[in-house]
Amino acid sequence: MDLSVIIPIYNEEKNIPALYERLRGVLVSMALRSYELVFVNDGSADQSLALIQDLAAQDSRVRYIDFSRNFGHQIAVSAGLDLSRGTAVVIIDADLQDPPELIPALYARLHEGYEVVYARRRTRQGESAIKKFTAKVFYRLLARITSVNIPLDTGDFRIVSRKVVDALRQMPEQNKFIRGQISWIGYRQTYVEYERAERAGGETGYTYRKMLRLALDGITGFSDVPLKAASVSGFLVSGVAFLVMLYTLYARFITRDYQPGWASLMVSILFLGGVQLIAVGIIGEYLARLLANVRQRPLYIISDTNITDAPALPRPTGVPTGTAS
Ligand code: UDP
Ligand code: MG
Repeated sequence: MDLSVIIPIYNEEKNIPALYERLRGVLVSMALRSYELVFVNDGSADQSLALIQDLAAQDSRVRYIDFSRNFGHQIAVSAGLDLSRGTAVVIIDADLQDPPELIPALYARLHEGYEVVYARRRTRQGESAIKKFTAKVFYRLLARITSVNIPLDTGDFRIVSRKVVDALRQMPEQNKFIRGQISWIGYRQTYVEYERAERAGGETGYTYRKMLRLALDGITGFSDVPLKAASVSGFLVSGVAFLVMLYTLYARFITRDYQPGWASLMVSILFLGGVQLIAVGIIGEYLARLLANVRQRPLYIISDTNITDAPALPRPTGVPTGTAS
């Protein structure tokens, strides 16, 4: 199998027919020996699943995975990675914001000796100013506080080699931030630039709530800086509070020049309370993710699929052959 294309689907009935036609056109023109389209239906409430099943009935290269509910985009992509078999794997959005016509360029670049070729958006059309602004700020913040080099302005649209897929499949974290994990894995990576189009039909499945969760997964998965900032701010604030305490004692007992002091009391109580709550909240974010991983639940539940020959989990990389028992 030369190429697998993974397509997460959440309420994309308006886009699936055009997506399939464009993907098929591009893949046929690439003259591959074999390829597969892996549609992952992430609990859509519309006709998406029926459309995909129709395609699968006509075209044996269409594979589908149907989740038991909405698990989220990153988990849908993870399931696709788990069940795909291609020596190269493309991850692409279903809404045609990522042009299928870029796939040959990604594929060609991969064969120049890279393990990852990501598609970097030069422009993004048809998205709200708030979304563009928050995305921009997020990627820059993330770049500052993480030790892995996560490329700026890049989503999950990319091609990766089987080596990278095998490495991803061994990363057991529940809170997936796939673009960060791929950077963490390393190997030779490069990019191709493209203009990001408008969503072809339907509405975005990424609510602000889901975007915030993805952002927090990215930060907590790849940086301890917020935890450290919480303790540093704790020390700073206690230092200042200690000085103020000395001054209070001095004013009360030495100069005996003191006021009823309502304002200063309020300010310090509110300030200390705020810092404490923020610190506790940051710890809570990490703790919740720790708990999710300790629970060891499966990442997703499949209710139906036509994939019968899923690849077995690879031997852990980093463990030399012969020493693993
Ligand atoms: N998606 C998904 N599960 C979700 C939300 C989105 O599988 O809970 C899919 C969606 O069908 C699309 C891709 O993830 O193929 C990107 O989503 P979307 O276009 O809504 O995000 P945006 O481009 O607005 O960030
Ligand atoms: Mg989109």
